[in-house]
Amino acid sequence: MMYELLGRITFIFLIGLALLFLLSFVLSVVLIKKRRIILPRLLLFTVDHFYHQIKGLAHLFGLRESLVDNIGIELRNTLSANAFARIAPHDRILVVPQCIRHPKCQARLDSSQGIMCKDCGMCIIKNLKVEAARLGYQFYAVPGGRFVERIVKKVQPKAALGVACYKDLNNAMHDLSRAKFIVQGVPLVRDGCVGTEVNLRELLDRMKLGIEDTLKVPSPCELEASKKTA
Ligand code: SF4
Repeated sequence: MMYELLGRITFIFLIGLALLFLLSFVLSVVLIKKRRIILPRLLLFTVDHFYHQIKGLAHLFGLRESLVDNIGIELRNTLSANAFARIAPHDRILVVPQCIRHPKCQARLDSSQGIMCKDCGMCIIKNLKVEAARLGYQFYAVPGGRFVERIVKKVQPKAALGVACYKDLNNAMHDLSRAKFIVQGVPLVRDGCVGTEVNLRELLDRMKLGIEDTLKVPSPCELEASKKTA
């Protein structure tokens, strides 16, 4: 009797799980193909709780594993965009990875501040730093996730906007959301250890969420973003 009951419960659980996976799969296809986000909280629940299993399935079907991270990033961006827009800029931090700096960068790494950019102008960090300060953000270029944790503990921002490769970004957004920080993220369009690249237009748009930009002439960062999208 006891075993029969256990068998039934297990069977119902497995059917429920299969239905959840099937529904999440359909929702993911709609998100990827049509750029429409339906039932984001349900989909995010599945991605968060069955992350490794879904990655395994993606691998099995010959799909990029980063697709799963990308879905997690898009869902969190969508769910927290309005809350992020309501946070005052001085309570926000912008964190970019050190791999977007120029390979010949001479800036030193400070153990609490990250890369101390010398404004040489060889990479985008100089302009991003200026743009972040202009909009009111605290800006950091850092070597890794551990550094982000340290900065968040020290600065205690209300919201964080991050740039990183798909996997690191999704993990960081997941951890920060669980710690009740409001997050936004922009994945690198070209990742690796050096010479990485971010979609500047997308990053600027996210930086300006909820901020009325009164600047009459385009900032150097805006000019660079326009050049890249032209
Ligand atoms: S702009 Fe700053 S981060 Fe970029 S290469 Fe120059 S010193 Fe390094």
